[in-house]
Amino acid sequence: MDIAGLSKLAKQTILNLVMALGFLAHGYATGEFEVTDERLGVYLCTEHIDNPKGYASDQPGGDARRIDPRLRGPVLDVELEVDPRTGMKNYIANENGNWDTSSRLVRERIVQCIDMGRRARNGGGETAVYEAYRLLGTLLHTLEDFTAHSNWCELSLMRLGYSHVFPHVGDGVRVQSPAGPCPPLVTGACALAPPPPSSAHLRASSLVQPRATS
Ligand SMILES: [Zn+2]
Repeated sequence: MDIAGLSKLAKQTILNLVMALGFLAHGYATGEFEVTDERLGVYLCTEHIDNPKGYASDQPGGDARRIDPRLRGPVLDVELEVDPRTGMKNYIANENGNWDTSSRLVRERIVQCIDMGRRARNGGGETAVYEAYRLLGTLLHTLEDFTAHSNWCELSLMRLGYSHVFPHVGDGVRVQSPAGPCPPLVTGACALAPPPPSSAHLRASSLVQPRATS
């Protein structure tokens, strides 16, 4: 759930819609398949390694937490800068600041998954097993998005020597890596109102949320 849906529909309506769609797709809607507020959660840029630039820019103070306290706070400029140590945007894996990162989210989910798995083994039953699987799927999704939402594949091709590759950043955008100058690793943006496109980021598509370059 994100700003667009939550500001137009009651939360329970969204949950019912998702549950109905899930039932139509998979044939289950009860027990571990029941769609709850906690299980569905809210949209987090870090969960998909999305570039947060422009997120909630139409909200007062750029703060989406008025809509749901689980949504992220205002975007900091420093989050969007490139970490010179890794060549990746700070929101991806630079944990030396006071912003959320996808790397931290994955680590936390791994710990939660292991904890739930141990609970299952110690008498937690099937409920704990299914929750552990759900957490595993959630964290694997973020890992999958690292290649799906970024220019990692393009950078890898360039590293392998291919020259006719568009790395989704401008020709002059380069960072210093141990192997020499190379384009930074960037990911697609998330925004309700598409900001003007630039060559510095790439487009990521989504079935549930309009996305745009920023
Ligand atoms: Zn995703």
